[in-house]
Amino acid sequence: MPEGPPRKKVVVLGSTGSIGESSLKVARDLPDRIELIGLAANRSVDSLADQLNEFGIQQGCLYDPTGLSHLKTKVDDSVTLHAGEEGLIELATLPEADIVLIAIVGVAGLRPALAAIEAGKDIAVASKEILVMAGEQVMNAAREKGVKILPVDSEHNAIFQCLEGKPASDVSRLILTASGGPFRELPSSELSDVTVARALKHPTWEMGQKISIDSATLFNKGLEMIEARWLFDIEMERVDVIVHPQSIVHSMVEFIDGSILAQLSTTDMCFPIQYAITWPERVPNTLTPLDFAELAKLDFERPRYEDFPALNLAKEAGTTGGTLPAVLNAANEVAVSTFLSGNLSFPGIWKTVETVMSNHEVAEHPTLETLIDADLWAREEAKRIIS
Ligand code: MG
Repeated sequence: MPEGPPRKKVVVLGSTGSIGESSLKVARDLPDRIELIGLAANRSVDSLADQLNEFGIQQGCLYDPTGLSHLKTKVDDSVTLHAGEEGLIELATLPEADIVLIAIVGVAGLRPALAAIEAGKDIAVASKEILVMAGEQVMNAAREKGVKILPVDSEHNAIFQCLEGKPASDVSRLILTASGGPFRELPSSELSDVTVARALKHPTWEMGQKISIDSATLFNKGLEMIEARWLFDIEMERVDVIVHPQSIVHSMVEFIDGSILAQLSTTDMCFPIQYAITWPERVPNTLTPLDFAELAKLDFERPRYEDFPALNLAKEAGTTGGTLPAVLNAANEVAVSTFLSGNLSFPGIWKTVETVMSNHEVAEHPTLETLIDADLWAREEAKRIIS
C-alpha cells in the first residue's frame, strides 16, 4: 500500500448536534483521512460518551458541568474530561489539533473559535454566530495568524468551492440560494397563524430547532448574508439571495465577466463538512451522488422581501456593521426561543428583532467585550419588548 497523506487531527465542538453527528459520519466514512481527537457537547452525556468510546477519543468536554461526574462513569479512566467554556478552549487549542470544527449553537463558540485561531489552528465554522457577531474580528485574527476559515454551511461552502481563492475584485455577485422554508407559498395573511409544529417542518433539510425556525422566517438566510459579507470580504450590496426550493444548487458566484459558477450536490451536510475538513483535497466517499435524470427540474424565484422582513433587516445590519449584526442575532435568538415556548407569534419574531435593532445605538469597530455587551443588551431588550 502506498502511503497516503497524513490523517487530519480534528476537534469537534458540538459533536452531538445535527452538524456534529454528520461530521462523525464523515469521520466514519474516511478513517484513513480523519482522526478525531477531541469532542465537546453541551449536556448530552450519553451521546457524548458513546462517541468518545466509539472512536477511542482521549479528550472530551461537557459545556454544562452538572453531568460531568455521570460522564466520568461512562468512559475509560484514561480519557481527560473538561467542562465549561474553559473546557471548550482547552479542546480548541490542543497542541496536536490540525483543525477545529465549531458547531455549537449560539455565542458559546465565539471565544473558543478565537482561541483556536490564536493557537494557529484552521477552523471549520458551522456556528453562524461566530461570523455574524464578530466577522470583522475573526477574519482579522485569521489573517494575522495565517490560518484558514473553512465554511461548513452548505451555501458558504459552495461559494468557497466556486471561488477557489479568487479575490473579491473578480466577483460581481455572490448568490446565496434559499429553500424558502416551509412557508414559501403561504399567503402573508396566514403567517400570524403559524404554529411551532408547522414552523419546525423544513421541506428539504433536517436540522435543529433553532435553525429550522430561522429557515421559516428567512433569518437563517439573513444571517448567512452577513456571514458571506465577512467570509469573502465583499460588500453587502453584492450579496444576493435567490429562492431555490429543491436545495440542489447550494449557492453561486457571478464573476465580473458575467460567468456564473454553481456548486451542486444532493442535500446532505456530509458533503460540505467533508470538503471543509479535507480541503484542499477532494476525497472519494460513500455519499449518494446527484442523479440529474431523477431531478426533473430546478426552480428559482425572487424572495418575498415584504412578507419576510428578515432579509432586509439582515441587509441593514450587514451594511451598518459594528454592533448591529450581534444585536440582530441576539434579539432573534430570544424571539425564536419565546416562539418555541408558545409565547410569541410567528411574525412577532421579526417584529421583535426590528424594534430591538431600532432601539440600539451602534458602536463601530467594537472590541470583543463591546460585542458581548451588545449581545447581552439585545437579549434584555428583546425580553423587555416581548413582555
Ligand atoms: Mg445554510
